[in-house]
Amino acid sequence: MKRPLSSIMVTGGAGFIGSNLIRMLFSSLEFSGRVVNVDKLTYAGNPANLADVEKAHGGDRYAFEQVDICDAEAVRGVMTRYGVDTVIHLAAESHVDRSILGPRAFIDTNIVGTFTLLEAARAVWKDRTDVLFHHVSTDEVFGSLGDAGFFFETTPYDPRSPYSASKASSDHLVRAYHHTYNLPVTLSNCSNNYGPYQFPEKLIPVMILNMLERKPLPVYGKGENIRDWLYVMDHASAIWAIVSRSELGETYTVGGENEWRNIDLVKELCGLMAEATGDPVDDYLALIKYVTDRPGHDRR
Ligand code: NAD
Repeated sequence: MKRPLSSIMVTGGAGFIGSNLIRMLFSSLEFSGRVVNVDKLTYAGNPANLADVEKAHGGDRYAFEQVDICDAEAVRGVMTRYGVDTVIHLAAESHVDRSILGPRAFIDTNIVGTFTLLEAARAVWKDRTDVLFHHVSTDEVFGSLGDAGFFFETTPYDPRSPYSASKASSDHLVRAYHHTYNLPVTLSNCSNNYGPYQFPEKLIPVMILNMLERKPLPVYGKGENIRDWLYVMDHASAIWAIVSRSELGETYTVGGENEWRNIDLVKELCGLMAEATGDPVDDYLALIKYVTDRPGHDRR
């Protein structure tokens, strides 16, 4: 069945991936509907990330609603008022280190918040089959890989941090709502995103800003952990492909086939910074500082 995709509610649209996704939607010839961005504006959300979209489409095809996804009444209200036919759910507490220091917010937003959205979708959509709830998740739900191979849609779950455990829990809830209540859902699990508008607590923006300020470049352990890096706009187009032409109930893993050891990535960034500034690369390499490894750190 063709999906209308005429009124999309993006949760977490003021964050890194959400803001890139919304910008991409408005530049896509395939999308002519409207977007309501539902975001609580935690420390990680910044409406200025979408100032250009607000200016071009605000009041017409784009609206912002400052709402906590744990607030059932508010979420139901937005879905009803905007006639939402598609949810793309990105709102989350997203930083692994913060989940180790204070897991509570991760349980609230990632698990209870997802549950609240699912309940709202069930109540508002009833038995509609032309609608879609797409849940954006992480490859971290699968735990750590050995030296070779990839994660697949069939890989068993093995989360290691409060963050990944909370995302795993939300994935299970989304699937359960499909099987139990026939809610039309899809899921995606992607690897590490990079690109514009990322909050400067994640590896790449932290390194860039610290280099500019000549501060130490903290690298966990010996820097041997490996991550796959996915450009955020490639992720946004994968989400659009899933939302517009996927099978209901399916999960899609999304990666960049672009693996880097952390230390090699940091050295690459030092080289790029040296090229951009004309400074000797050794000035930046000298800032690298190995720090105690993160507990439960997935190796690859
Ligand atoms: P982010 O931290 O940059 O943005 C999260 C957004 O959610 C923020 O705008 C924040 O204000 C909002 N938010 C948080 N709690 C909320 C609540 N209770 N109600 C409403 N809004 C709330 O995150 P991101 O990097 O853009 O990640 C988006 C999604 O993609 C998350 O679900 C994350 O788990 C997933 N993901 C991210 C990556 C990555 O590399 N960044 C990789 C895999 C999966």
